[in-house]
Amino acid sequence: MLDVDLHCHSNLSDGVLDPAVLAARAHAHGVRLWALTDHDELGGIPAARAAALEAGMRYVCGVEISISWAGETVHILGLQIDPQNQLLRQGLAHTRHGRLARAEEMAALLAQAGVPDALAGARRYASNPQLLGRTHFARYIVERGLCAKVSEVFQKYLTEGKPGYVPHRWASMEQALQWIHAAGGQAVVAHPGRYKYSTLAEAEMLQCFKDMGGAGIEVVTGSHSVEQYAHYANMAQHYGFLASAGSDFHAPGESRVDLGQLPAMPPGVKPIWHDW
Ligand code: AMP
Ligand code: MN
Ligand code: MN
Ligand code: MN
Repeated sequence: MLDVDLHCHSNLSDGVLDPAVLAARAHAHGVRLWALTDHDELGGIPAARAAALEAGMRYVCGVEISISWAGETVHILGLQIDPQNQLLRQGLAHTRHGRLARAEEMAALLAQAGVPDALAGARRYASNPQLLGRTHFARYIVERGLCAKVSEVFQKYLTEGKPGYVPHRWASMEQALQWIHAAGGQAVVAHPGRYKYSTLAEAEMLQCFKDMGGAGIEVVTGSHSVEQYAHYANMAQHYGFLASAGSDFHAPGESRVDLGQLPAMPPGVKPIWHDW
């Protein structure tokens, strides 16, 4: 088991646990080098860091930024960022701002699809009103008994082509990398195996990311299959990317992989934490 976990979510974004509770869970599961990476939000960092250091873990400041690339949403992790950096903070504030209008549109579409009161319902699941996202809607739809679990809601309602899906224009890759680099951080493509790109488009995306100074890609993540660990280890070698690892844990009973439950990195890649 890997004692590193550089990707997870608190209730400051679409996780359900407080940052300090998450830190304790990470430590209890054997994590010794840990990052909280909430979506588009840095607010959980002080509590996460304090609890991590208290427990004796090494802490890395992180964030997961939503971007649009060739019509798809891609997630870029910023690791080792300075959370006080103004350019990063402004960029994330702008990103969060667009979420409210999107949530209102989602609620209107869901009402037409037979899910009433979704905005108020999703809000009850969002501890951070600025970070209303699809997962909060999904938990509400499960609560109403329309689906058995969150992943089923995504399949039935919240992904492209489904009745509650609202296309959204996030920041560009260039902007996100500028923010991360201004904050002294390293940029990492989160769960590259999850995007719906063709092989060619994926190669273009990774090359573009490399050309813009991207440092790494996630190889071992809760979103990848074992075959994808090997595939993205090869991709890391091919492009000269450092390899990152993180569970992408959101909630007990909801996430496939819990904190600290990742296998070792495949051989032949350089872990992003090698020189930290
Ligand atoms: P948003 O940023 O509001 O578009 O929500 C994105 C989040 O939705 C991701 O970070 C995941 O937590 C969750 N998500 C996306 N696709 C799925 C899926 N197929 N099953 C479960 N959760 C998903
Ligand atoms: Mn999420
Ligand atoms: Mn993600
Ligand atoms: Mn994530």
